[in-house]
Amino acid sequence: MRYLFSLLMIVCLFSCANDNNQKDSQTMPPKYALVIHGGAGTIERSSMDSATEKAYVDALNFALDTGEKILKEGGKSIDAVEAVIKTMEDNPLFNAGKGAVFTNEGKNELDASIMTGDDQKAGAIGGVTTVKHPISLARAVMEKSEHVMMVGKGAEAFAAKCSLEIVDPSYFFTERRYNSLQKILKEDSEKVELSEDEKGNKKHGTVGCVALDLQGNITAGTSTGGMTNKKFNRIGDAPIIGAGTFADNKTCGVSCTGHGEFFIRYTVARDIAAMMEYKGSSLKEACDYIIYQKLVEKGGEGGLIAIDHQGNIEMPFNSSGMYRGWAKEGQREVKIYKD
Ligand code: ASP
Repeated sequence: MRYLFSLLMIVCLFSCANDNNQKDSQTMPPKYALVIHGGAGTIERSSMDSATEKAYVDALNFALDTGEKILKEGGKSIDAVEAVIKTMEDNPLFNAGKGAVFTNEGKNELDASIMTGDDQKAGAIGGVTTVKHPISLARAVMEKSEHVMMVGKGAEAFAAKCSLEIVDPSYFFTERRYNSLQKILKEDSEKVELSEDEKGNKKHGTVGCVALDLQGNITAGTSTGGMTNKKFNRIGDAPIIGAGTFADNKTCGVSCTGHGEFFIRYTVARDIAAMMEYKGSSLKEACDYIIYQKLVEKGGEGGLIAIDHQGNIEMPFNSSGMYRGWAKEGQREVKIYKD
C-alpha cells in the first residue's frame, strides 16, 4: 500500500512539473527584435575620419532608439519600421529622402517599399521627387489603395490625396551628392555609380529596417535614392517586393542594399524566405548561401538585413562594409566595417 502511495506521488510530481514546463514555454515573455542598415559598399576604416564615423554611429543608434521604444511598449512592427526609416530619410548621411543621390539629369528620384509578414500586404513607390518621406507613401499605398505599386506623378498625386508631407524637389539637394554626380559625369557619363564621398568611400547608402514585434509580426521596409547618374527613370530593387524587400511571418523579413539590378534578377529577398520555406534552411544558411555564394558567383555586390520568426538576426554583406545595427531587449550592436 505504502509502495503504491509513493508511486502515485512520484507520478503526480512528474506530471505537475511537466505541466509547469509547458506553462512556462507558453508564458515565456514574448520578444522583439529590430535590425537596420544604412547601405553597403566600399566602406574602409582607413578612409573614414572619426567625426564622420561618429556621425554614422549616432544616426544608427538614433534610428534603433526610435524603433526600440515603439517595440518595447508593445507597438506594431510596421510603426517601428516606418518611424526608423523616417529618421534615416531625414538624415543627409544616407542615400534616402534628404540625402538621395542625383540622376543624370540632376534630379533626385526616390524609391521605397514596405511589407507586413502577417497578411503579406505590401506597398511600393518609385521615382517620386516631391514626397518628404517615401516610406510613408509606400505604407499609404499598402493601406489606403488596392494596389501594391505606384510610380512618378501618379504616386505623388496619391501622396497629396493622403495628406503626406510634400516638399519642393530642391529639398533633396545636398552639395555632397551633387558633387558626386559631377565627378562621375566628368569621368564617364555612361557610368551608373554607387554614391561616393570625399574620401573615396563608395557606398549604396540605401536604408532599410526589419522588425519583429511582441505580437510576433514581422515588417520589412527599404528606402533609397537609387544609384548616382541613373537615367531613363531607372528603378532599382528597393521598391520591388521580393527583390529588395520581403516579409512573411512563417519565415522571415528581409531588406536589401546593393547593386539593384542583381537583386532584382535573383529575387534576393524572396529567395531567402523561399529557402527557409521550401528547403527548411535556417535564416543563417539561407543568408550565407545567397550573399556569399550565389550573388558572388553572379557578380552582384551588396548585403541585406533579416529577422526570422524566432527573432534570429542576420546582416550578411559581400562588400567591404555595411552601416548596420540591431537591438533586442537589453542588447544592441552598431557596426560599419567587416570586422
Ligand atoms: N539597391 C539600390 C538600388 O539599386 C541601391 C542601394 O542599395 O544603395 O537602387
